[in-house]
Amino acid sequence: MRATFANIYLDNLCHNIEQVKNNIPNNTKICLPVKADAYGHGAVSVAKTALECNVSYLAVAAVAEGIQLRKAGIQSPILVLSLPHPSEFDEIIDNNLTPSVFDTQIIDMLDSVAAEHKKILSVHLKIDTGMGRIGCLPSNSTFLAESIAAKKWLKLEGVFTHFSVADSLIPEDIEYTKKQIDLFVDSVQKIKSIGIQISLCHCANSAAIFAYPQAAFDMVRPGIVSYGYYPGDITKEYLDSIGKNITLKPVMELRSRLVSIRHFSDGEYISYGRKWQTKEDCDVGVLPLGYADGLLRRYGKNLRISINGNTYPLCGRICMDQCMTLLGKNHNIDRWTEAIIFGPKDKGAFQDASDIANFSDTIPYEITCGIDKRVPRIYLGK
Ligand SMILES: *Cc1c(COP(=O)(O)O)cnc(C)c1O
Repeated sequence: MRATFANIYLDNLCHNIEQVKNNIPNNTKICLPVKADAYGHGAVSVAKTALECNVSYLAVAAVAEGIQLRKAGIQSPILVLSLPHPSEFDEIIDNNLTPSVFDTQIIDMLDSVAAEHKKILSVHLKIDTGMGRIGCLPSNSTFLAESIAAKKWLKLEGVFTHFSVADSLIPEDIEYTKKQIDLFVDSVQKIKSIGIQISLCHCANSAAIFAYPQAAFDMVRPGIVSYGYYPGDITKEYLDSIGKNITLKPVMELRSRLVSIRHFSDGEYISYGRKWQTKEDCDVGVLPLGYADGLLRRYGKNLRISINGNTYPLCGRICMDQCMTLLGKNHNIDRWTEAIIFGPKDKGAFQDASDIANFSDTIPYEITCGIDKRVPRIYLGK
């Protein structure tokens, strides 16, 4: 096996989903976003585990991601969050995926493809209440719901929207999210008032599940919290302060091994660009892990990796496939020893993906999604 690998703690995944379950009404369903290969964790294993832990619905971005889950034998409903291309409509129906729709052109096209297949297709109507991405205007939602309901081969199973700032505690952003919720509730009420049944109204992402419990409705879509990270301003400290005792545990742990330990004397240069020079006699460890694996160059400056319970800085630039760590003068580290780059701290990591995100001006989502496919995923627990 490669000396660089990612452990995926499936018991932590179930623990995080349990935290969600404990904070939503009893009959509210959980739809787990497993897009982008489950935020880099591995969609099939994550989905299979989650379906045994309180999750009953899955969400993907691309049709191909849905097909991958079907090929693995997963039978739960799968919502496709992004818009497909017409060349994928046959596959949507063949694989029993649930597309998002919000305009008459796609509604008409999907109805005729479903008619050809002689199969009823469930769809969810997406309303743009302020995200400014995909969705119909709230003022057009009743008309579109009616036109879906009038189609012989379509079934309006759900109506949903997405928040843009539910993870922010800035007063203006809180007002904005509340306005999004009001627009959504108002649209749903209007649709229901003309006699159209909708079984799944949903809008809450991770942040909203904890910050806007009034927005749970029939289903919630917890992405990042399921993978163990607090969304934006909705930190553990904030949740404690509002009396919500929620503990999330990172699911991914990135590890590598010191494939070489080399001695350098004072004044030698390490890695590209001669940007780092030894200040004394020292040992430098080499890890076969680089930016092509998702350890981006900009993480290098502040990253500290954990080896045998101590932490060490990286030295020199992170290369495409390798990076170096300063072990110093006195250490008892043997060749092939494991190093933890990031992961759950109770398992020995010094930093998790949110720490790296904080000093790299990004979000934990981007860090776990960015761990490349050539890093083998090892599934532990469950
Ligand atoms: C990705 C996504 C989510 C999950 O968001 P998190 O912030 O990870 O909880 C929910 N809904 C939609 C439409 C998404 O695209």
